[in-house]
Amino acid sequence: MHIFCVHSASNRLFSAKIYTIYLEIDTAVIARKALEKEDENDAFRDHLGNYNADYLDELVWPIAETITPLIDCTACGACCRSLMINVTDSDALRMSDGIQMKAEEFKSEFLEESIGGQKIMKSMPCHFLQNNQCTQYEYRFTECREFPHLHRKNFKGRLFGTLVHYAMCPIIYNVVEELKIVTGFKDNEAHE
Ligand code: SF4
Ligand code: SF4
Repeated sequence: MHIFCVHSASNRLFSAKIYTIYLEIDTAVIARKALEKEDENDAFRDHLGNYNADYLDELVWPIAETITPLIDCTACGACCRSLMINVTDSDALRMSDGIQMKAEEFKSEFLEESIGGQKIMKSMPCHFLQNNQCTQYEYRFTECREFPHLHRKNFKGRLFGTLVHYAMCPIIYNVVEELKIVTGFKDNEAHE
């Protein structure tokens, strides 16, 4: 399913122009298109290799700010189902306080150590996900708040990891597709 959304924005990138953003929100379609676009995305990664990292951030941020609120994460929940969530000590404390459990009990019941020595949730999908919604949203972990990281500096440095999740995350898929247009990698008529 596509959503067509015409918007204008006053930042440097979009000034004096009105863009039509085509959103793909059907996760099955996104997964299929991601397979079809593997070679295209490899070429796009090479294309972005020519960009200055700070300048690329300035291109990505307004696109992400525009698209993210248009995607309903509660209709998706893919990251909560399929990511290994890192849990810091302060995350564990906030969550255990929130669900009124002792921190040590929380750690032993819900966390395990990853190969890299970090604490991660034992269960995937995440124990706190029900009907695609986080039952402890207020206390969710830092990584849950940050994903898909498109608001952070150095999109270029995270590009490989971002494209790994392109097939799974409608926010990433649509931001990357829009970025292809904005950087001239594809023309605006090329949205499929
Ligand atoms: S804590 Fe909530 S937001 Fe984070 S992975 Fe679990 S269900 Fe998702
Ligand atoms: S995978 Fe992306 S779109 Fe889906 S719930 Fe997570 S952040 Fe939202």
